Amino acid sequence: MKITSLFENKTRTVFSFEVFPPKKSSPIETVFRKLDEICALKPDFISVTYGAGGSENRNRTCEIASRIKNDLGVESVAHLTCVNSSKAEIDAILEEFRQHNIENILALRGDYVQGVEPKRDFLYASELVAYIREKGGFDLAGACYPEGHVEAEDEIADVLNLRKKVDAGATHLISQLFFDNSAYYRFLERARIAGINVPIEAGIMPVTNKSQIERMVSLCGASLPAKFSKIMQRYESRPEALRDAGIAYAVEQIVDLIANGVDGIHLYTMNNPYIARKITEAVSSLL
Ligand code: FAD
Repeated sequence: MKITSLFENKTRTVFSFEVFPPKKSSPIETVFRKLDEICALKPDFISVTYGAGGSENRNRTCEIASRIKNDLGVESVAHLTCVNSSKAEIDAILEEFRQHNIENILALRGDYVQGVEPKRDFLYASELVAYIREKGGFDLAGACYPEGHVEAEDEIADVLNLRKKVDAGATHLISQLFFDNSAYYRFLERARIAGINVPIEAGIMPVTNKSQIERMVSLCGASLPAKFSKIMQRYESRPEALRDAGIAYAVEQIVDLIANGVDGIHLYTMNNPYIARKITEAVSSLL
């Protein structure tokens, strides 16, 4: 199933998950066990990251996306980055996706890796989108950044670049995580004014331990509302309380987003079935 069709039902909010492949040093079965539990929650689709744990685990994206779709009966989306790939390498990966019946791709530029010379066949995600669109056969999603991409000149330039990705053929967008809903609403306004009319899913990451928040915020630059920082400070030395507060904060964000008519919620599950279940239980009747 092409996931863009999920957004045609305007009376329901799409609810999706993201998972990542384990490092090469861990057996793939470790994630398979978690996937059984995560898929049992029946999200609308699950996306699988690409290369985030190092280039060596890239073909695991296809294996995991295939498992989710073909064995566990949940639609999957395979992430694919292009900055370190030639056209021939992208062609080979697309063929692998086709063989595994994968129909949906989140097309990304990816980050530059220090010491690795980029291939330069694709400079931006929009070029990958256009390339795959021309070949046909896949539904294409793109990434977006409510608080602006870290390399962008400013938020306006970023949204104008985002428009290029949509014009190239991305029919659905998934946002970077954020903790301040008002930043997301301001971004939505900019995007709609720029003529971006495709569905945009809000990326929500439940923060459940302190090192996770420090790592994520330094990587993606999400701003932290005072309310959020107070919660982190109060519970930083009580892991269970911090986990529960992180879940409650994410649920509160989601309730507000749904009430404001968001197209979809994309939950960064961090491969944690407990957290995915707690949040699904709290919001499923609201979707
Ligand atoms: P682009 O859309 O190409 O944008 C990158 C920068 O270039 C932006 O600053 C943009 O404003 C600018 N730009 C775009 N087009 C133009 C143009 N025509 N002219 C001038 N400037 C332009 N990384 C991974 O490695 N693996 C993953 O699985 C992964 N999954 C992700 C999922 C989501 C939902 C998100 C939000 C991010 C994900 N990332 C992943 C991170 C992503 O690869 C990085 O954020 C990367 O730096 C940018 O990728 P992009 O596809 O957004 O790039």
